[in-house]
Amino acid sequence: MISPDLSDYPEINPPARVLLGPGPSMVHPRVLRAMAAPVLGHLDPAFLSIMDRIQQLLRYVFQTENSLTLPVSGTGSAAMETAVANMVEPGDPVLVCVNGYFGGRIAEMSRRYGGDVQTIDRPWGEVFGAEEVRDALARRPARIVAIVHAETSTGALQPLDEIAQVVRERGGILIVDAVTSLGGVPVRVDDVGIDVCYSGSQKCLGCPPGAGPITLGSRAIDKLEQRKSPGTNWYLDLTLLAKYWGHERAYHHTASSSLNYALYEGLRLVVEEGLENRWARHCSNAELLWRGLAKLDLVPHVPEARRLPMLTTVRIPEGVDEVRIRQELLRRYNIEIAGGLGELQGKVWRIGLMGYSSRPENVLLLLAALEQLLG
Ligand SMILES: *Cc1c(COP(=O)(O)O)cnc(C)c1O
Repeated sequence: MISPDLSDYPEINPPARVLLGPGPSMVHPRVLRAMAAPVLGHLDPAFLSIMDRIQQLLRYVFQTENSLTLPVSGTGSAAMETAVANMVEPGDPVLVCVNGYFGGRIAEMSRRYGGDVQTIDRPWGEVFGAEEVRDALARRPARIVAIVHAETSTGALQPLDEIAQVVRERGGILIVDAVTSLGGVPVRVDDVGIDVCYSGSQKCLGCPPGAGPITLGSRAIDKLEQRKSPGTNWYLDLTLLAKYWGHERAYHHTASSSLNYALYEGLRLVVEEGLENRWARHCSNAELLWRGLAKLDLVPHVPEARRLPMLTTVRIPEGVDEVRIRQELLRRYNIEIAGGLGELQGKVWRIGLMGYSSRPENVLLLLAALEQLLG
């Protein structure tokens, strides 16, 4: 085997992209710096104290007192799988609300873990009313109900308060996907009464992908403790993860210190800004975008009343080659936006203003670039 010629393998030097897609979002320089700190052992007391602080800061962003609150090693999908793998037992009736790509993913995962899955469906871009969930549960009770708070594939924000009440009245466990919403719009786990809530690091928390925060309330913990058999997923087993992140400090896997430093610094930035201010910033930059899009005669797919501030789906105008526009945005202006997913593929662009990406200068740059390309 001849040694590779190093000139074929230059040092990594990524272009300075402006990330305005559905995630990952841009990473704050302080978060990048934190990742460059020396790696620590996963049981080093210095690292353990960072882990404790991360858990405390996660409780703040989730607005919860839940003691079982931790980041799993993995992306948002790993956090989703943690929720499903730990809650769904073979034969459990599960109700999944599907109005976009990620609702579909939860349904698929729940089936793989043996859940007896039923879905209620809505066109992409719409949201569910509490009545629909109530009716579905009256037709067939479910032990677990899952719903996406911010559907990144459609740009719609799902109201949760009444649905959480309905699920609670019926004695079900409510799983909420807050991958895109956490840190961008209010996610009030305790006030709303969410039993299991999970997220990801690379959307409105402004960190690199790789950490999946999750929190479980007491009813979810009861369900976990009453499982008839251990879950089939070992890596994401919350009973084992809780022993590592809790008092026992029992080795489970080697947590990435670098990614946890990143999450820690990202959460510190949330505290420094204040959650309310952060939600307001996501709103005001979204409004700046929407006003600018209107001037370009570009129409959002979702009505303003239920539109996400951190992710706007924009209808592709007649006769426009949507792929070419995205390629030119990247090539000429270093801007990344995304195309549609699933049902909305070829029909919309997805523009993300998440975390550190949500800044007026990015909005104005994108609007000016779109004007150049569409004009
Ligand atoms: C991005 C996203 C996920 C999946 O997260 P990954 O980090 O890509 O694994 C799940 N749910 C929603 C709503 C998302 O936006």
